[in-house]
Formats: sequence, C-alpha cells, structure tokens
Amino acid sequence: MDVTVVGSCNIDLISYVPRLPKPGETLQGSKFSMGFGGKGANQCVMTAKLGAKTAMVGKVGKDTFGEDFLKNFNNLGVDTTHCCTTAEVMTGAAPICVDETGQNSIVIVPGANLLLSEADLAAAELVIAGSKVVVCQLEINPDVTLAALKMAKQHKVRTILNPAPAIPLKHEFFENTDIICPNETESVDDAKRACKELQARGCGSVVVTLGAQGLLVSVEKDAPPTHVPAPSVHVVDTTGAGDSFIGALAFFLSTRPDLGLVESCRRAVQIASISVQAPGTQTSFPTRSQLPQELF
Ligand code: ATP
Repeated sequence: MDVTVVGSCNIDLISYVPRLPKPGETLQGSKFSMGFGGKGANQCVMTAKLGAKTAMVGKVGKDTFGEDFLKNFNNLGVDTTHCCTTAEVMTGAAPICVDETGQNSIVIVPGANLLLSEADLAAAELVIAGSKVVVCQLEINPDVTLAALKMAKQHKVRTILNPAPAIPLKHEFFENTDIICPNETESVDDAKRACKELQARGCGSVVVTLGAQGLLVSVEKDAPPTHVPAPSVHVVDTTGAGDSFIGALAFFLSTRPDLGLVESCRRAVQIASISVQAPGTQTSFPTRSQLPQELF
C-alpha cells in the first residue's frame, strides 16, 4: 500500500431548512441529501482519487449505510479488507441541518467507529507494516489511534496525525507522529507558536492549515517555518477542505518522496483549494484526471 488510513466512517444526513430548529420545534425542510463522510474516510478517498494504492482500517455497522460505505470505497479502488462490520451498533452517522444562510448544526453519533478495537488493528498489522504512510485522526477510540501510530512507527512507516476533534493528548501521540496537521484559523503568528509547541512535545514536523491563507509548515525543530499561501479562488463550499489537504499530502509523501515536505504541501494546497470550488465533501475532491498532470 502507498497509504493506509486508520479512522472514522460517518454517513452525513443533511437536511436543508429555512432556519435551524428551536428545541421542541418541528420544521419542514426543502431538501435532504446523504453523503459519505468522517475524517478518516474523507482523507482515504482523497488519496485514492489521486491514484495512490490506499487501504482503510475502520468499522461500520451491519446496515445499509455500512454496505453503501464499503461499496463506495470499492468503487474508488480502496482496499477494505480491514474495514470491518459490527451488528452491535449502527454505522457512524452525522445528522446535519443547513439553513438558508449556510449556517449549520451538526450531531455526530460515532456508532461503529468507537468499536474499532486494538484486536481489529492487530489483524491489519501486515497492511500497516507494508504501507509507506499511515494517516490517523481522533474520531475513533484514541487508544486505537495511538496503537496505530505506534504500530506504524515500529515498522518504520511514516505517520501523519490530524488531531481532530481537539482533545487532550498524551505525550506518546506526539512522540509517534512524524507530521502533525492541526487546523488553526486565528493567525500566522498563532500557527508559528503552535509549531514550536508541538515540536517541543516531540512531533517531527508540523503543518498548520490556515483556510484561505494556506498553511504554515515547520519541517524541523528550530528551523524557521515556511508559509505556503493558498490560491485565491471562488469559494463554493469549504466542507472537507482540511481532509482534502491531508489526503493529498499523504498521496505526495507516499508516491513522490523525492519532493520533500514543503513541496508536497504546496501541491496538496493546490488540490484542497480546488475542492472548495465545488459543493459537498468527497464529491468536491478532484480525481487525478481532472488535475494538471504537472502536479504529479
Ligand atoms: P474543514 O474543517 O472545513 O475540513 P479545516 O479547517 O480542517 O477544514 P482549512 O485550514 O480550512 O482546513 O483548509 C485546508 C486547506 O484547504 C487550506 O490549506 C487551503 O489549501 C484550502 N482552503 C480552505 N479554505 C480555502 C479558501 N477559502 N480559499 C482557498 N483555499 C482554501
């Protein structure tokens, strides 16, 4: 494998409403749609759409959402050997309301994601050991995320951690992460402070994404970070931009190790900035054939 993602699968259930409902209120919506989501699945799909050999380690319910999830992965060429199913709870789901101004309210019910166990991970050890890059987030049991990072490091596989959602992390997370990619929307100065802090805790490199401002990348402790600006584009929907970036970064690091981290970030920013110009999450991620071939 080029990339293995150990993470979450959530089905997005999106209702478009005139305004967000008040407690106890019943509202009529104008449209309903479903989408494949979860940070793990999104990042995995971005990597696969760019043409990397990608595997997903995750858990879905034995229900129609879970079946659809596996079909979607298979259609995109993602290896789902270690995407297991459970009859105990349902596939992770995210009921979302979006109002006419674009404001949203989101509930995430992790469901099967939280049942991905260290035993499931142990079953995937060969795939992890044979990958060039392993990508993790924090939408599954954090102990399993940490075990995945440790397993990858033991096999000398490069690790990327997207620490989202933000939760307090033990030192071991940082020590087993080669590249940590948080999102920080405040300012470039805040991002510089975050780089220093995270490298002091033991992370190899830090990439802080800054939305329309692009990102800040600190390759090594004590070296000055590099600001990579994002192109100025017509924004339609930024949902999943961070996942598009991380998937693209994993793609370049695994398939073009000659580029190095800063150049890989530059190319991944181009791809994430294309994703914000189309609606939806995974549906907005471009495929290899839709991109200029010089990028590869
Ligand atoms: P999300 O939570 O919406 O998935 P995020 O907060 O994790 O996103 P961001 O820092 O917002 O991630 O964005 C990641 C990358 O996406 C940026 O580095 C940039 O390349 C691209 N991007 C995001 N917003 C814009 C924008 N308004 N214009 C151009 N590029 C953007």
